[in-house]
Amino acid sequence: SLYFPDAAAIGIIGDDKKERNRPMTINVAIDGPAGAGKSTIAKECAKRLGFIYTDTGALYRAIGLYVHSLGKDCSDVNDVIPCLKFIDLRLSYNDDGEQIVLLNLKDVSKDIRKPEISIAASQVSAIPQVRDFLLELQRSIAAKDNVIMDGRDIGTVILPNAQIKIFLTASPEMRAKRRYDELIAKGQQVEYDDVLNDIIKRDEHDSNRSVAPLRPAEDSITVDTTELNIEQAVDKIISIIESRCNL
Ligand code: C5P
Repeated sequence: SLYFPDAAAIGIIGDDKKERNRPMTINVAIDGPAGAGKSTIAKECAKRLGFIYTDTGALYRAIGLYVHSLGKDCSDVNDVIPCLKFIDLRLSYNDDGEQIVLLNLKDVSKDIRKPEISIAASQVSAIPQVRDFLLELQRSIAAKDNVIMDGRDIGTVILPNAQIKIFLTASPEMRAKRRYDELIAKGQQVEYDDVLNDIIKRDEHDSNRSVAPLRPAEDSITVDTTELNIEQAVDKIISIIESRCNL
């Protein structure tokens, strides 16, 4: 199935305010800092519950990829904003439930994972017009299916009426260690201290930006994965969802 950015506008989400306040589908928002395990844990929870998993970082990455590939400056609003009208973004899912990102109908799911695109994504994500551009696409997905959506502002901005909001976190040292182990396993040469400094810098950037800063929603449940492995974190979140939604 494909999701169109203007799905809300054509009536998938009712315009009635009350309708908006009560999602017909089950929406689980998972926000938290880089390296807390959001995507791994959210994907596994979605698989076990038969929900759709939406990785919203991929949308910011796709915009970063488009702007970057034109040789433009992703941190310059005057470079980024004019690009938006040429961008058609859609999400699709393969048979394994893996998310596929279509940028102007081309599958860019692999290209958006390059390190330079992480930086591009983080730069474009600080631009309010970029966040507005992606808002209805994200809401239309959540209106259509039971979804576990991960990002930075899902519980606070995108799905303020989500039935379940999880703030997934872990100590900076543990997040750096996980990231370090992952990079070493991929054969990359990195120093733990550099990875830790990068995590601390990204935390600061994400939490202090003026638009959609990373912070727990007031009605969110914090799950700290410092002492939990993936399976334990998944079990914990599944039990929260089941008890809240009478599944
Ligand atoms: O999660 P991921 O690392 O793929 O996200 C890429 C970038 O997009 C991050 O640096 C983050 O700042 C930004 N982002 C965001 N809001 C989201 C998801 C990601 O600002 N909902």
